Amino acid sequence: MSYCKYHPLNTAQFSCHECDCNLCKRCINEGRNASKHRCFSCENEVTSLGAAINVAPFWRRIDQAFKYPLATEVLVMIGLLSLMTTLASFLALPLMAALNLIGGAIIIKYCFNCLSATAKGRMSPPDFKDSYEGSILLIFKLTFIVVVLSAIAIAAYAFLNPAFGSLLGFLLITAFPAIIILYAITENIFEAVNPLKIISLILRIGLPYGLILGILLIMITSVGILSDLIIYKQTAITLVFQSAVANYYLIVMFHIMGYMIFQYQNDLGYSAEADDQNKDPIRSEPEKICAKIHIMIKEGHWHLVDETFKNALTRFKEHPQLNSEYFLYTLSLLPSHPSDAEKQQEACVIFGRYFMFLIKNHQEHRLYVDYSKVLLVMTHYQPEEARLRFELAKTSSENGNTKQAVKLLYGLHKSHPSFMHLIPAYELLADELETLPNMEKQVTQCRKLVSALKERNPTDLIPNEAVEETSNGKETDNSLDDYQKTENKGLAPIEYKP
Ligand SMILES: [Zn+2]
Ligand SMILES: [Zn+2]
Repeated sequence: MSYCKYHPLNTAQFSCHECDCNLCKRCINEGRNASKHRCFSCENEVTSLGAAINVAPFWRRIDQAFKYPLATEVLVMIGLLSLMTTLASFLALPLMAALNLIGGAIIIKYCFNCLSATAKGRMSPPDFKDSYEGSILLIFKLTFIVVVLSAIAIAAYAFLNPAFGSLLGFLLITAFPAIIILYAITENIFEAVNPLKIISLILRIGLPYGLILGILLIMITSVGILSDLIIYKQTAITLVFQSAVANYYLIVMFHIMGYMIFQYQNDLGYSAEADDQNKDPIRSEPEKICAKIHIMIKEGHWHLVDETFKNALTRFKEHPQLNSEYFLYTLSLLPSHPSDAEKQQEACVIFGRYFMFLIKNHQEHRLYVDYSKVLLVMTHYQPEEARLRFELAKTSSENGNTKQAVKLLYGLHKSHPSFMHLIPAYELLADELETLPNMEKQVTQCRKLVSALKERNPTDLIPNEAVEETSNGKETDNSLDDYQKTENKGLAPIEYKP
């Protein structure tokens, strides 16, 4: 088994020859169809390693193979069919033959469906009702092969030479799983009985083929032995039991053969992926960009990462994953240049933008956690935007972080005198200060400020949006003067001494 270059715990499903590496499905740029999958690094097409790459060898799954038919619907079907064929044996010959033929056709068709479903990687028995939609012709052809080949062996035994006949019979049994597998893959009788094809298939599978043959023989003989052991006399009940066990084994057998096709699909020139109905949906463009960025980061192409993020965010401004990943990326790089003021400033802008994105997209629940992450690496972080400071203070207060809430709100009326929510902000500040010891004076000042603000002309306040746009401290409206007037009237700026 090979693993993804970038996810050492993920099984690789693709391979890039240009980059000489194996990749998991997260690390390729998936196209509309399998042939259009591309490598994120070199943009070349990747080759599928096939579903077989994930597959446990069938001999490790033998116990599961015996559990395969244990589904209520399948067991009921086995029971009914066994009952039918047993009852038929008490009827007149033409009726008996007809019922047996129908019973046989039903079970073989179902077994064949189990085989094709398993070969496509579906490990639970197919729906019984769906099994009879397809053509029954296939089953007649299959039965025809078996009958003709058995007839040849019997004829050789009876008319030519018993030893030769036995050898032929032995070869026929040996070739049986190969014939079924070839028939399932090619759906062509002549290819299925072509001795060259049979030998080539056996050689390609190798020793495990002998193993499946052994299981087949054990199952065939055990049907008789089991009924001999349990019940001495041939009664209707033993016949039903025998027939049920035989049908059960037949399903297990076809499931194992289907699994062999699945496991050896590369060697057999068969691709399970092409038929797979449960393919993963194609990721969106921003999701793919994130996957590509993960690879760039792991490859150490730092200079490309930032640029790719920025380009992607101009195209997909509101994409949650892109926003959150850019935030985390910026955050993770901060400790690597602690004294680079320019980088720190740039990071602050990115954080501010990200927090505003969370607020705008109603993801306030993430605000406090992500804000705390920033404070861990940048203890002095204080956003510029009034709205953001207020929102962060609210979430800090809700999370019991009074100190942080006070720090965020303190001085807001000076830096953003026209902020629309100054009143609730200062009410919150007063409430928060009240919970701190020895803050009575500050609380009183704060409440006074709230009253003063309430008396202010409401037209001085500008709406949120305007604050956001001009929030880089560039507000140049007259309300500052208003505030200064009130300040001059004796309202001392509140002081906060922790
Ligand atoms: Zn991967
Ligand atoms: Zn590549």
